[in-house]
Amino acid sequence: MTAFIHRRRLFEELSMKEWDIPYDELKLFEVIGTGRFGTVYRGSWHGAVAVKLLHVHSLTDHCLQLDTFKHEVRAFAFTRQAAARALAHRPLPAARQPTSTSWIPPTARYVPSPSLVKLLHVNSLTDHCLQLDTFKHEVATFRKTRHENLVLFMGACMKPPRLAIVTSLCKGMTLHTHIHLRKDKFTANKSVLVAQQISQGMGYLHARGIIHKDLKTKNIFLENGKVVITDFGLFSVTKLCFGTNARGDSLGIPPGWLCYLAPELVRALRPHASLHLPFSKDTDVYAFGTVWYELLCGEYPFKGQPPEAIIWQVGKGAKQSLSNMQASRDIKDILMLCWSYRANERPDFPHLLSTLEKLPRKRLARSPSHPVHLSRSADS
Ligand code: ADP
Ligand code: MG
Repeated sequence: MTAFIHRRRLFEELSMKEWDIPYDELKLFEVIGTGRFGTVYRGSWHGAVAVKLLHVHSLTDHCLQLDTFKHEVRAFAFTRQAAARALAHRPLPAARQPTSTSWIPPTARYVPSPSLVKLLHVNSLTDHCLQLDTFKHEVATFRKTRHENLVLFMGACMKPPRLAIVTSLCKGMTLHTHIHLRKDKFTANKSVLVAQQISQGMGYLHARGIIHKDLKTKNIFLENGKVVITDFGLFSVTKLCFGTNARGDSLGIPPGWLCYLAPELVRALRPHASLHLPFSKDTDVYAFGTVWYELLCGEYPFKGQPPEAIIWQVGKGAKQSLSNMQASRDIKDILMLCWSYRANERPDFPHLLSTLEKLPRKRLARSPSHPVHLSRSADS
């Protein structure tokens, strides 16, 4: 059994190597933009690519510190009990804080070095180091994704301090740019075609056991009418970027994020603790509902309301009113189902896909949703 596990781990490591791109092989050109996870560059690696360099300065520091810490633990004559406690990263009882040496058993001939003392104050030390594992785990997950509605994962730089994800370069614009910046109008039929492709891509991800965790119009590209979803499963590494790189308010809520969060996520929001949110396939479906609303209405739900008001309403089950929305009952029903307060009442993506496919096109054309009567096409 042990030999089997060992062989399997070896195999995993070897196959991970295939996806490891040496940082020096990448050519980086201009910055395309900066998001929560890192900075995206237009790059070249056997052709045009997008390179997302993660903001991980603190991660590297912390991991180096963990090494120092382990080294020091070995070097000094800790008693077994103290070393075990320290290595297990258990929080030390208040009375045993390392600012004084009183917690060290008198038998230990240990002189606390300033670096170790400093280290033990780094509460998130373990978290950060686990994040490197999380990153590698996520890279292992991306390898398994091949779908025409998902961005093509090409590899990753996995050696700190350079952690980067390399994907194909999306040529079109994001739905966010179309809807909110260019104010392009989508016909109801076109919205349905886009929603179908999102459902296909998302259904595939879920079938592979991958939760997107950050489905939003900024992460959906339109390339000549084809939907390409990006940034799936990356949310966990955002924690690396919290703190110095965090943007948003005191809850660590970046602008435009809140309206994608299902009630169970909103209720679990705590200051700077978004990594522990209970993401699930159902929370992805809720986020899809918001994308569907943006497509149909050309704006975010709860538009113009402060975060506290949105949190309060969503948390207790209130939804954006659809009374002013000119759309057929079927279209509104999809929205209401995706936004169900109870997670288990939300449909899954295969179900959504078949509902979208059954929507009567002619009827859609006769009862357009706002503001589909405008003639400008969404993508050229
Ligand atoms: P966000 O998703 O919040 O916009 P990101 O860090 O994911 O933040 O993206 C930063 C910028 O890079 C955005 O303008 C995004 O559209 C762009 N971008 C991300 N991935 C790609 C890609 N694969 N191809 C082209 N542009 C990309
Ligand atoms: Mg993105």
